[in-house]
Amino acid sequence: MSHIFGRSTKTQPPVAVAGDGCYLVDASGKRYLDGSGGAAVSCLGHSNERVRAALHAQMDTLAFAHTGFFTSAPAEELADRLVAAAPEGIDRVYLVSGGSEAVEAALKLARQYFLEIGQPDRHRVIARRQSYHGNTLGALATGGNAWRRAQFAPMLVETTHISPCYEYRGRAEDESPLAYGQRVADELEIEIQRLGPDTVMAFVAEPVVGATLGAVPAVEGYLKRIREICDRHGVLMILDEVMCGMGRTGHLFACAEDGVAPDMITIAKGLGAGYQPIGALMTSGKIYDAIAAGSGFFQHGHTYMGHAMAAAAANAVLTEFEEHDLMARVRLQGELLQSCLTDALGQHPHVGDIRGRGLFRGIEIVADRDSKTHFDPARKLHARIKAAAFAEGLICYPMGGTLDGIVGDHVLLAPPLIIEDAQIDE
Ligand code: PLP
Repeated sequence: MSHIFGRSTKTQPPVAVAGDGCYLVDASGKRYLDGSGGAAVSCLGHSNERVRAALHAQMDTLAFAHTGFFTSAPAEELADRLVAAAPEGIDRVYLVSGGSEAVEAALKLARQYFLEIGQPDRHRVIARRQSYHGNTLGALATGGNAWRRAQFAPMLVETTHISPCYEYRGRAEDESPLAYGQRVADELEIEIQRLGPDTVMAFVAEPVVGATLGAVPAVEGYLKRIREICDRHGVLMILDEVMCGMGRTGHLFACAEDGVAPDMITIAKGLGAGYQPIGALMTSGKIYDAIAAGSGFFQHGHTYMGHAMAAAAANAVLTEFEEHDLMARVRLQGELLQSCLTDALGQHPHVGDIRGRGLFRGIEIVADRDSKTHFDPARKLHARIKAAAFAEGLICYPMGGTLDGIVGDHVLLAPPLIIEDAQIDE
């Protein structure tokens, strides 16, 4: 009997014993093509030599020095490199251990920012339905995934949710993509007015929605309109790039393609590429300066923040991106993946939509293509797809049945950024 308290008490997963490029190997010797990087984590595959060497070297030098006393060379280097590539105005990096921690830090920093600049009434967060921002209580409250929230609802701080930008289901037939984007963005304006502009602290969104919708990018112009609305009301714009960032879409920061610069960005997953648990909150100088001019102390912190080993791994990941020009490769291989999926599944009677950016693709499953109706969630189609694919040696990330009657079943693909043509074909 295993004493691990895993994700499910009903199943006992196989024991993974080795990683080999885009494949994982279990104790029986079975190989699995990692088509989803776990959950968009393993962007360099599972046996990257540069990251391994960097970890060995860092371990031989310095493993950990608590940030209450020290900074470290790899953490400083990582912050410099991230800022050099970040959207305009983002110039500080708060290193944590994962995505939920990054989102929690963003929420608390937003609150503290408004206290420091003398706007104590600002505490409300607006986010979007069918979104996911993490599983800790603050991040869970921010997310709009009805299924994940349901049983913890009494413990979640009140957050209001507007529509996502979900063209496949939201855009009217006679509406242009641009008009649709402006219409759903304007829900933010309405919601800020309803809550009272002086009480709203932040708007949080994923530029490309990952786990809950399945690789859904915003239409052109949407995030720019959101930026304008936030500016008009002094509301902070927080983009959660935990899943879609770090090169997944073919840009280090997904929002670069949308031409916007938020006030804060959260990243994780691909940053450590699975070799180390690491995430970051990146923030604008405006916010940092307000803290510096005020209390001088962000009242937050985790024991493992700024971990030297994790930062060393992330630096090696960024070097791999640069040396192999992986962003260009992602855009190329992403097009190939999209066209292979379209060739193989585009006419399938139960495939409603194939979408995404770069190596971040989603396949939406429908009972009927014309009416876009879902399969009954009780059939747990996504779980059956996951199991069938796994049995065939493919790791993919199906999701479904979020209780709100809007999201049906979809399959998310987020393979390593190094994926070859032959593996895409496979
Ligand atoms: N934000 C987004 C957009 C995510 O997709 C996730 C995880 O899937 C998180 C936050 C939470 O990250 P973590 O699981 O590392 O805490």
